[in-house]
Amino acid sequence: MDEFTLIRTYFTRQPVQRADVVLGVGDDAAVLDPPPGAQIVVTTDVLVAGVHFPLDTDPYAIGYKSLAVNLSDLAAMGAEPAWATLDLVLPAVDETWLSGFSRGLFALAERYAVQLVGGDTARGPLCIGIQLQGFVPRGAALTRAGARAGDAIYVTGTLGDAGLGLLHAQGRLDLPDTAARYVRTRLDRPEPRVAEGMALRGIADAAIDISDGLVADLGHILEASGVGARIELAQLPLSAVYSQCFDRVGGWDVALTHGDDYELCFTVPPAREPALAAMAEKLTCGFHRVGVIETDSGLRIIDVEGGRYRPNTGGYNHFHGAEDERH
Ligand code: ADP
Ligand code: MG
Repeated sequence: MDEFTLIRTYFTRQPVQRADVVLGVGDDAAVLDPPPGAQIVVTTDVLVAGVHFPLDTDPYAIGYKSLAVNLSDLAAMGAEPAWATLDLVLPAVDETWLSGFSRGLFALAERYAVQLVGGDTARGPLCIGIQLQGFVPRGAALTRAGARAGDAIYVTGTLGDAGLGLLHAQGRLDLPDTAARYVRTRLDRPEPRVAEGMALRGIADAAIDISDGLVADLGHILEASGVGARIELAQLPLSAVYSQCFDRVGGWDVALTHGDDYELCFTVPPAREPALAAMAEKLTCGFHRVGVIETDSGLRIIDVEGGRYRPNTGGYNHFHGAEDERH
């Protein structure tokens, strides 16, 4: 199969045909019509086999996740996704792999009305690069830099489930079937919080997606905004599955320091918390207030007894020693 047949077979037919794509796959470049008054928001992520995922990962999950991580970045900016390009480096033409990969990619693209408008294909070690573009009304993008002392800190969904999924995948955590399926789905098919991010425009002062764990990603907001924060462990949203294996996984640290959840962390000034509450009814994932932005730099984590808590930096890697290393 040559490159052109490959592109035609797997990447030209797609569910989404957007009216703002003047010219998509097939020419030297795509021609796109942004809405009047919009700013374009651009993100890109590259996944390298053996580095970002094991070589034998289900290709459907790779296709799904390579778009999901980009959707999550746009969600964190409050942007509406629109157009993607795909750079694909393949060791060989493996039609089973290509079929699974493109189904995973397009399943998610369809849900978010994303059209693939171009890309590049080459032979080499397996590697997937996706660039995603979207829009915000002029000046409306959410950034990491807008948090101010007094803002409440929120997170969407629940934290740590993808971390449990990884522990399970590594054979380090035994779970009943339904719980195992739940955490593996959270790891392999994260739900990018696109609707939530868009709804937070005009409400949140700052936002980020949680790809590296709450402590690290909230840390980016604090640094970019020149502020500090206090969060309360008792307020962290944990799933039922997490609560059930809380002690076995060493307590809070997976939720605090493990990435891959792709939830949003955002800050809201008190005056806009009523607007946030009103918006909640329209969203499916829910969100929880976990702390407050303060003027003093640094992150203070308060345990359930009111004392200072220090997570194991390194999170799940130190999972087995978590109980001992906590002091
Ligand atoms: P060029 O030589 O001009 O770079 P290519 O032969 O690489 O053109 O690509 C032909 C067309 O197919 C272009 O429109 C390009 O955007 C598209 N394309 C190539 N690879 C992919 C891919 N993996 N996914 C989607 N579109 C692709
Ligand atoms: Mg090319």
